[in-house]
Amino acid sequence: MKVRVGINGYGTIGKRVATAVSRQDDMEIVGITKTKPSYEAALAVEFGFPLYVPEGSVQLFKDAGVKTAGTIQDLYKKVDIMVDCTPGGVSERYKAEYTAAGIKAIWQGGEDHSLTGISFNASANYRESWGAQFSRVVSCNTTGLLRTLYPLDKEFKIRHAFVTLVRRGADPGDSKAGPINAIEPSVKLPTHHGPDVQSVMPWLDIQTMAVKVPTTLMHVHTLTVELGSDTTTEDVLDVWRKSPRVRLVKSSDGVKSTAQIMELSRELGRSRNDMYEIVIWEDGVKVIGNMLYYYQAVHQESDVIPENIDCIRSMCKMEEDAARSIAKTDRAMGI
Ligand code: NAD
Repeated sequence: MKVRVGINGYGTIGKRVATAVSRQDDMEIVGITKTKPSYEAALAVEFGFPLYVPEGSVQLFKDAGVKTAGTIQDLYKKVDIMVDCTPGGVSERYKAEYTAAGIKAIWQGGEDHSLTGISFNASANYRESWGAQFSRVVSCNTTGLLRTLYPLDKEFKIRHAFVTLVRRGADPGDSKAGPINAIEPSVKLPTHHGPDVQSVMPWLDIQTMAVKVPTTLMHVHTLTVELGSDTTTEDVLDVWRKSPRVRLVKSSDGVKSTAQIMELSRELGRSRNDMYEIVIWEDGVKVIGNMLYYYQAVHQESDVIPENIDCIRSMCKMEEDAARSIAKTDRAMGI
């Protein structure tokens, strides 16, 4: 029997998780939620996702001609697990509702680790969410850092990592956020990204700084990593070549910026042009003694999507082995 999944909050992340779940053979979408009868709500219905809405809004959707299947509370009765992709501010209320309904739930990186007490990354700590009622898939940036730092730490033992995050100002579909003509440093130091990585790798010595820039495509990280022993650039690249959801590109092949990375995902024919992998510029990796320097790019809208699928498998005890779950997810998503 397939695990029954509901999506609460069908926005940037929620709609991608819905598509990804639909592509797996061991889970299915039984409903998604929308609070307003927007074009996205109408499209979700067109795609065949049963639509559940807040109790007081059924008439609003009816008046707009968007077909609903019931209230959000009705959906709780139909699911094994909710993937909560709502924006900040409503998590405590929904946590109380999921608890009362006796269902499992996954939150996203906008929520604090303290909400669930468990944070998830498929390669680094798949088993920690095994059978759990609640877990949290860490943010896009934290997922990016874990994907490349965790395998390095396993191989070379990281002594210290220092990261500067160059963050996108808004998602492509967002016309409210910014900046549109400025560079904005995060002045509260260190930024929250380091502690967020430590919610999965508590032993890692990591410090982070961040600036927000006027772009919507991707984030870029610059990393300086002190390794436990001297090594070579080639040995480091070999570690990443064997790591899941990491893609090496070359500036010398024409992938000079995030613009060409997004063009590459369009060429690959990915759903919504998504780049699920963390992209490292191979010719921008340099090891000197035990110091490693590199750049990576993070597609904020999609790198966490396969992680949500693996988190469902761990929490619902569907596959014991992380590597097997990752491989299954990636096959179904064309990664
Ligand atoms: P979004 O604004 O694109 O989507 C949120 C959705 O939730 C919208 O469809 C909205 O209508 C709906 N919603 C709002 N209030 C609701 C309520 N009370 N009940 C049910 N639904 C409600 O947001 P997003 O970018 O998808 O972010 C969702 C979560 O994912 C956040 O925790 C965010 O931090 C995290 N996240 C976002 C990104 C990103 O770059 N967009 C990346 C990784 C993680």
